[in-house]
Amino acid sequence: MRCPFCGFTQSKVVDSRSKSEGRVIRRRRECLSCLRRFTTKEYIEESPILVIKSDLRREAFNRKKLKQGIMRSCAKRPVSVEQIDAVVGQIENNLKDRSVDEVPSKDIGSMVMKLLKQLDHIAYVRFASVYRNFQDKEEFLAELQDLN
Ligand SMILES: [Zn+2]
Repeated sequence: MRCPFCGFTQSKVVDSRSKSEGRVIRRRRECLSCLRRFTTKEYIEESPILVIKSDLRREAFNRKKLKQGIMRSCAKRPVSVEQIDAVVGQIENNLKDRSVDEVPSKDIGSMVMKLLKQLDHIAYVRFASVYRNFQDKEEFLAELQDLN
């Protein structure tokens, strides 16, 4: 990091503070040449993941929207917000681990279903019925039977 006063390229960090839930780190630096101080900020470079919808349109992955969808499925069920957050967090981590820029929406749907299945069967079936868009009643009933 080049000193803004003298242009020297070496400095030491004299103070480090984390902001916005650790997403930004503010560093107070001291130039090793002129000893003047300046501040740098470090951000995580977030490249948005695009979700490929069934009609092939792309849409930026939206954590909030995913959470709302899961919450709708969990309405009046014994599932806590913490548990829902954990599901969303696991999916986010999974997407990051894949290190791809695009992911089919049905992949996200299956991940949610897998996690909800462990959490609450009713929430799982509600979510599955929206995501999978069951073609007929038999298919839906077959899915229900699978749970037992
Ligand atoms: Zn300097």
